[in-house]
Amino acid sequence: MPTMCRSILLAVLLLSAVFAFSQASSLHGIQTGDLDRSAQPCDDFYQFANGTWRANNPIPASMTRWSRRWQAGEASKDRLRDILETAAAEKNAPKGSTEQIIGDYYGACMDEGRVNARGMEPVKPWFAKIDAAADIAALQAVMADLHDILVAVPFAMGSSQDPHKPAWVLADIGASGLSLPERDYYLKPEDRFKEAREKYVAHVTAMLKLAGWDQKSAAAGAQTIMGMETKLAEASLDNVTLRDPAATDHNTTFAQLEAMAPHVDWAGYFKHKQIPTDVDLNVDQPKFMAEVDRQIQHTSLADWKLYLKWQLLNSVASSLSTPFVEEDFAFNGNYLAGVKELKPRWKRCAESTDQLLGEALGQKYVEKYFPPEAKARMQEMVRNLLAAMRDDILSRPWMSDDTKEKAMAKIATFNPKIGYPDKWKDYSKVEIRRDAFFEDTIAGRKFAEKDDRDQIGKPVDRGRWGMTPPTSDAYYNPLLNEIVFPAGILQPPAFDMNAVDAVNYGAIGVVIGHEISHGFDDQGSQYDFLGRLRNWWTDADMKDFQARGACVADQFDHYYIEKDIHHNGKLVLGESIGDLGGATIAYRAYEKSLEGKPRPAGIDGFTPEQQFFIAWGQFRGDETRPEAQRLMIQTDPHPVAKYRVLGPLSNLPAFQKAWNCKADAPMVRPEGKRCEVW
Ligand SMILES: [Zn+2]
Repeated sequence: MPTMCRSILLAVLLLSAVFAFSQASSLHGIQTGDLDRSAQPCDDFYQFANGTWRANNPIPASMTRWSRRWQAGEASKDRLRDILETAAAEKNAPKGSTEQIIGDYYGACMDEGRVNARGMEPVKPWFAKIDAAADIAALQAVMADLHDILVAVPFAMGSSQDPHKPAWVLADIGASGLSLPERDYYLKPEDRFKEAREKYVAHVTAMLKLAGWDQKSAAAGAQTIMGMETKLAEASLDNVTLRDPAATDHNTTFAQLEAMAPHVDWAGYFKHKQIPTDVDLNVDQPKFMAEVDRQIQHTSLADWKLYLKWQLLNSVASSLSTPFVEEDFAFNGNYLAGVKELKPRWKRCAESTDQLLGEALGQKYVEKYFPPEAKARMQEMVRNLLAAMRDDILSRPWMSDDTKEKAMAKIATFNPKIGYPDKWKDYSKVEIRRDAFFEDTIAGRKFAEKDDRDQIGKPVDRGRWGMTPPTSDAYYNPLLNEIVFPAGILQPPAFDMNAVDAVNYGAIGVVIGHEISHGFDDQGSQYDFLGRLRNWWTDADMKDFQARGACVADQFDHYYIEKDIHHNGKLVLGESIGDLGGATIAYRAYEKSLEGKPRPAGIDGFTPEQQFFIAWGQFRGDETRPEAQRLMIQTDPHPVAKYRVLGPLSNLPAFQKAWNCKADAPMVRPEGKRCEVW
């Protein structure tokens, strides 16, 4: 066990013991007004839990999904706006201060008149650079420049923990270079993919025309780009295979890399990136790199230039003038995701600041909006959830003592991060000007790229965060064995200082349990307590675990959003194990928290157990546009909201008991089909 992890965990345990839960009678229960009482909880719990809220709160035109949770996420942006407008109004902020950086970035973004007046001027120096390349060797140097501003095509290099030596960071070379959401969009014969390809070609044509091409050359250019990307898609792994860590685990020497793709100027590239060639390297997809190499060798210089210009335009469209923003939205927002209108400019500017300067903005956000009591209460819940996971694993009769011991070691090294990083990124050298939004975006991107690249070849920095503090989400990282909860998710309806425990355990408790369960899902189970990609299971236990996973995959294979559009059980397996395990251990932790205390009274006619399940339905349930659901089914490892409520709960005996459901009720999976992992 690494001592650092242990000491962090110990500190968390000690701290949380000080702040035990207090529960006054003024605390509220679930949202009774959201319930659809015409639906039966044992028939359709999704409808019962929040059907009335959804009926009364149509999805706003600028959103793909809507629920109290999404509403809270958008409300956080009002807070960001406050912070940003205050910073932007401060004319005397010292250069390099947080106020100057976020204030000027936001102010420049909000200056739509200037952005529009500049049109595509800011891109022209980049186009000129691409045009100036006399041969493919010179163009590869331009490609490296584009990688510096996060236009990382057709491959990408970034930092990644070494799955065999997780205390160290290696250079990871990954596949990139597609603009449709995923490889199936290029290759599958179904009408909906064919249509997406036609729309995509029309979209590329429109963007090239905006950038100065005539109709004929734009249309021909779009076909060329589609051809190059289709070849790259053919050589890419599908999204189910990509979930298998072993499928992308290819330790490679520099000499092997040169042999794998001999027409790529690797020496030049590494020199540009200031990375020594004896650095530890991983190539995610060797077959993809072979295709890149083939195209470097056989695709004409003119076609490569066209492809790079398109990728650049596509990547920076939202930082350009209105016609580019609108065309980009028409395809990616409206057509692919079903969104009806663009978000207001201030919101896009706040989101963009969060994306590029997230820890500067986040610092201001947590100062104002994240009370220390919230952190203390979260630490208490995380401690209880980890204890529940420990009990749960120990109680599983199918798992041998040997594997259990290894699992306990993994639980003991779990590192929870709550709210915001202990150490903030230093943006003081990022050059941000009030009058140059495009250049500001480029500066922010360069900072992000270098900040990542600087990790390569060094010991891992365990303090880094993969999400910004205002983000309304959470994650698990198997290499660091950490669960991370940004301040943004620690607000109602996920987490409510004024709600009873039943409600908090049913919402944020299940989220915490979900993240912990990721440590023991189809992917997380392959990493040991030190974050090494190494099998720690006995063969028999692994076989049993996989059969349990297959039950969940089969359950989700049967869920569909439209007649012919089913979930892919294997794609959503990790998230579904997370939800099933999360609900199980959060319920267990809640029960345990009641031990030795008088039983809490029912509220609003619901028992504490019923409140727990309603809280999950109300937090997790949402309304999602049909287009966005199609996109999710194809690309997202998370199931759609409806099945994240119905799926796990219909497996749980505790749910059946809480609602007195008959054995043949729709919310009760029949005995032989019931899935049970954790
Ligand atoms: Zn998850």
